[in-house]
Formats: sequence, C-alpha cells, structure tokens
Amino acid sequence: MNKMRLDKILGNMGYGSRKDLKKIIRQGAVKVDGEIIRKNSIHVNPYESIIEINGEKIEYRKYVYIMMNKPQGVISATYDNIHKTVIDLLDEKYLPFNIFPMGRLDIDTEGLLIITNDGKLAHEILSPKKHITKTYYANIKGFVDEEDIKAFKKGIILDDGYKTLPAELKIIEGGDVSTVELTIYEGKFHQVKRMFKSRNKKVIYLKRIAMGKLKLDGKLDLGEYKELNDEELEVLK
Ligand code: URA
Repeated sequence: MNKMRLDKILGNMGYGSRKDLKKIIRQGAVKVDGEIIRKNSIHVNPYESIIEINGEKIEYRKYVYIMMNKPQGVISATYDNIHKTVIDLLDEKYLPFNIFPMGRLDIDTEGLLIITNDGKLAHEILSPKKHITKTYYANIKGFVDEEDIKAFKKGIILDDGYKTLPAELKIIEGGDVSTVELTIYEGKFHQVKRMFKSRNKKVIYLKRIAMGKLKLDGKLDLGEYKELNDEELEVLK
C-alpha cells in the first residue's frame, strides 16, 4: 500500500473534513509513530505507522463490513429518536467509519444484516437489477400448502398491484402454524409479509438467514456481530 496524506487517512475514517483536520493536526492532536505531527499533508502508510488522535490509536481500514444477527426491537437505520438502531449495538470504535445498514429488516425481523461504509458495494448489492437472493426462515399463521408454493413460483400480486418475481417457498413443517423457508429475488418494502398477506396468511416470526450465498453465521447470538472475513466478503460480492 502506498503512503497517503495524513488528512486523507483521518478523513476516510470520519474524523472530520479536510479543513477540520488541518486545524486538529495543527493543534498537535495527532501523533505518527509517537511523534506529534503538525502538517496535514505529510504522507504516511496507515497500515505500517501507528497513528494516534487525542491519544487514541486508530485502526486504519478504508472499509468495514460487519455481519449482525439483528434482534427484534431495533431498527435498521443510523439514527432514530425513539428506538435503538442497529448502529447503537456496535462498539463505538466503529462510529468514525460512518457505517450504515445495507438494506432494511423490519423492527420485528431478526437475522442477517450487513453494516458497512462501502457505498459502492451497498449500491451494487441492493440494485434491483442484480437480483441478489434473500432467504428467510418464517413461522406463518395458517396452513401453508402446495397451492402457496405454486402461487409463489408464479409471482404474487401485492396490495399495490406489483407482481413479484418467482420465489421459492419450502415447507419445513406444515400445521396451523407453518414453518417455511422462502427465497426471494428482490427486496420490496415488507415484501415477505405482504406476499403471505396476499395468500390470507400472516407472518408471525421472520428471520433472514442468507443474502446471496452468504449465510448468517450460526455462532452469532441475537444482537451479536462480527467483521466479515475475506472469504465471506467475496461470497457476498
Ligand atoms: N420482508 C418483510 O416483510 N420484512 C422484512 O424485514 C424483510 C423482508
């Protein structure tokens, strides 16, 4: 990795605009390899040098990719004045990265959520053209049967008239509360709930278990998270 300007390194991590950083650096708040640096334009290799800001060591990475097992009761947003957000569940060391959830899960939906600051990747993954699959595990009030499987395969007309792409429904256990797995190829607002609603059935528990080929890590309890390793990131891309 080539050297980068000190203010660019700190800017990438969300420590302020170039103008703010010039001031912060000039005031002597930043050390490189133990030495106070007052010039914002010096070039540093952020992976080799130790950079501190106000005595705190920074762990430089341009992008952060976090897999969370989202619990119920928190919302997929960066800020909310009523509810806790998924960002509130993270260690504060991630905050300078300006991270955001890649897509949304409803407040009462659990499971796989990616949180990142890589806007380009998020845009690509969420692009309707890309048809990244999303797989959900769900409990449904009502007997889910072969007719539902066929209807989901044909595409469901939602309450706003939109016809969904063919979706794959598997019945894991039938009954007056059925357990199913559903794979969809798009991500319309409340899509899974609305698909079942159009079949006069109600989703009573919903958990996302995969996005594309990336599966939720079974070791993560609700509310827990981890950074994606390189292999997982490749699978997601
Ligand atoms: N579909 C829904 O209805 N809710 C979610 O949270 C995700 C998909």
